[in-house]
Amino acid sequence: MTDIPKAYEPKLVEQERYKFWMDGGYFKPKIDKKKKPFTIIMPPPNVTGELHVGHALTATLEDIMIRWHRMLGDPSLWLPGVDHAGIATQVVVERELAKEGLDRHQIGRDKFEERVWQWVRKSRSTITQQHERLGASCDWSREKFTLDDGPVKAVKTAFVQLYNKGLIYRGERIINWCPRCGTALSDLEVQNKDLTSNLWHMKYPYEDGSGYVTVATTRPETYLGDSAVAVNPEDERYTHLVGKKVILPFINRAIPIITDIAIDKEFGTGMVKVTPAHDPVDFEISQRHNLPVIHLLKPDASMNENSGPYAGLDRFEARKKIVEDFEKAGLMEKIEPYSHAVPHCFRCSTVLEPEVSKQWFVKIQPLAQPAIEAVKDGRIKIIPDRFTKIYLNWMENIRDWCISRQLWWGHRIPVWYCQKCGEMIASIDTPTKCDKCGSSDLVQDPDVLDTWFSSGLWPHSTLGWPEQTEDLKYFYPTSVMETSYDIIFFWVVRMIMMGIEDTGDIPFRVVYLHGLIRDEKGEKMSKMKGNVVNPLVTIDKYGCDAMRFALTTGNAPGNDMNIGEHRFEAGRNFANKIWNAARYVLTSLEKEPITTQAFANVAAKKLTETEDRWIISRLNRLVKEVDVLMKDFQFGEAEREMHDFIWGEFCDWYIEICKQRLGKANSPMPVLAYVLETSLRLLHPFMPFITEELWQNLRERLPEGTLTSPALIIAPYPKSNEKLLDPGAEQVMEAVMDIVRTIRNARAEYKVDIGKWVESFVYTDSLLSDIKARSATIEILAKTRPLTVLPRDKRPSKADKAMVSVLKDADVVIPLAGMVDIEAEKARLSKEIDILQREISKLTQRLGDEQFTSKAPAAVIEKEKSRLQEYENKSARMKTALDQLG
Ligand SMILES: [Zn+2]
Ligand SMILES: [Zn+2]
Repeated sequence: MTDIPKAYEPKLVEQERYKFWMDGGYFKPKIDKKKKPFTIIMPPPNVTGELHVGHALTATLEDIMIRWHRMLGDPSLWLPGVDHAGIATQVVVERELAKEGLDRHQIGRDKFEERVWQWVRKSRSTITQQHERLGASCDWSREKFTLDDGPVKAVKTAFVQLYNKGLIYRGERIINWCPRCGTALSDLEVQNKDLTSNLWHMKYPYEDGSGYVTVATTRPETYLGDSAVAVNPEDERYTHLVGKKVILPFINRAIPIITDIAIDKEFGTGMVKVTPAHDPVDFEISQRHNLPVIHLLKPDASMNENSGPYAGLDRFEARKKIVEDFEKAGLMEKIEPYSHAVPHCFRCSTVLEPEVSKQWFVKIQPLAQPAIEAVKDGRIKIIPDRFTKIYLNWMENIRDWCISRQLWWGHRIPVWYCQKCGEMIASIDTPTKCDKCGSSDLVQDPDVLDTWFSSGLWPHSTLGWPEQTEDLKYFYPTSVMETSYDIIFFWVVRMIMMGIEDTGDIPFRVVYLHGLIRDEKGEKMSKMKGNVVNPLVTIDKYGCDAMRFALTTGNAPGNDMNIGEHRFEAGRNFANKIWNAARYVLTSLEKEPITTQAFANVAAKKLTETEDRWIISRLNRLVKEVDVLMKDFQFGEAEREMHDFIWGEFCDWYIEICKQRLGKANSPMPVLAYVLETSLRLLHPFMPFITEELWQNLRERLPEGTLTSPALIIAPYPKSNEKLLDPGAEQVMEAVMDIVRTIRNARAEYKVDIGKWVESFVYTDSLLSDIKARSATIEILAKTRPLTVLPRDKRPSKADKAMVSVLKDADVVIPLAGMVDIEAEKARLSKEIDILQREISKLTQRLGDEQFTSKAPAAVIEKEKSRLQEYENKSARMKTALDQLG
């Protein structure tokens, strides 16, 4: 038999147990066509580096669901993977290069990609090891990378199919350009920051010399690309000016004054400059009026050849120079301080430039419609429900998706251009000659796809699509997509659109969104602030189960959570509590072995002792409650209830109460073993390591065949048995615990020495014989002797120098001979009577209020009435007690 160490040492257990599960092949589901599978595709962490606490939360929640379903007997697949994370990874490797004084252009595309692959291989194995440390029971044999052959083929196939249906097009649109990353970004990759800057009011003279107009801008340098000045057609102030021309100073280009409905009369002077190449609204205006689109910037955001005397300057130097020149020429009417949202790159924080550019887009409307339907008709359920509205609102206003990126790391766009005839060929396989002219002079588009394009295919590409694999047929649509609410638009919506488009079916039935993890003070974690929790450091310090417990207990879906040392400590304390209690049960079992039959009898309604029936009843209630909560995705609440039962009722009460009976004829040993075994199964999905370890130890100490499963990870999840609920036993034990608590509190309040026995009297009616029968228990737990249990009417009318507590089913009178300050005791009773009186008048008022009684459900009114009755009784008894003190 394995020795059980005195204290729980997570390090000694975790690695060994993970290996045990891996060796047993338990993470790999068996495809059984008669059973409905449970499938989660893991949101692939970016290959950019170490896991943070958000990944730990994701992994824990998904592992809870997977372990639970595995124990329910469902073929459960949790498929892990890693994302190549296009721009994020490229930025990291570029930084590495910069340390060596290099940039990617110096080493060239092939060498650069080689560097990234080197880095990726190292990083991928780190991610796998980290998931092992988290206890993630995912099927590593099915692990995928977004740049594996399978997903690559899926990406090309999806692209070509959309292209052939006319849902992918190439066009000139305003995109967000990052001059540092040298790529276009989608709207979602833009981070707006409020900055204090200026609004410059610049004067443009009329061509005919009759004066000037004033336009206001936050980017003076863009005046070089202006194609017009526009006013609202209904703005009567300017009607007479429409059609006139103004001159752009220093470059002497004449532009017209036009009208357009997009102009806001209230903004500034109501007259705006139109810069089609560098502003989305202006671009649209230019399309309506056929205005020239004049680009001003090179890819690195220096001014290009269209910038006249400012060509070659950086955009911000040019701004400075232009402002100076306008001021010197008396053409700057005024400069006002102005704060506004400035778009920044979400990866490198460089100020972005809106810019017209030739890019690839997905025509989103035809894809969005089925995705909206799937959520509206309930085929996809979003948890928590409040995100359904957010989802629908977003989808109804969704805009075409810019999918091309001017990067080197990622899925290269599968389009080739014929150098001879200009034909564009989209193809899954590399074409050898032009379809149209037969030329073999073909050049592939240099751009790569937005990293979210491949992520959008993740649920079906990981299962083998476009091939009709066994996995795809069996596990798709998947069951749950669990992820953070902050990537619902980046990712979740795209998976739904692409999944339906490619397979004709939804990618998952449930979207479970978890909240963000903040620090103890509720602040967002960031490396800059230094308040980041590193999961691996936390596991080293507290153990994996303690961390998992801290990350999930008591939390509801979609809610942000504050986390810090005290929560991890609580997790560790709980693990220690379980360990100590289990160790007590296991060592007792060594001294007093039980039979398989005795173990089975516990659940066969054959128990005679009230406390045994009570703990079994409470356990079954818990199991029932947990089942309801888990089905409702309330994992945090289920875990909290398990904690309260195991810590409170099982460890603190039941074990203490039944200790005295060990080794005797009515020994509680089978009940102790039974409750421990069921609790371990119940808790396993949440705290897998400690539960498996203890369960294996328990299995060893029970006769062979008592626990038939070879491992807890595949043991059946507990089911509640209504027949074992015993309200009578619960009422008795609640009264016993109430009495013990009351005496303990009294002792604490009057600082009675620990070793000292205190006399007490208990007066009760309906539970008289039950409480009498448990006197010995009360005596020992409350250190009270002599203990006298009598009917309520035997309570003396005058209790001199006594502390009186009125409980639900009993009154406790503790003579405090010489130890109590009588005046203080009187004050206490008066205060409690006051509080009760206030409650009574509140309730009386409420029950007399038409508003309340006419609207509240009958059950609520009944409840309030019985509360009032209870308070009135209690108050009356307390008044008697006060009188008794003289
Ligand atoms: Zn950038
Ligand atoms: Zn051709």
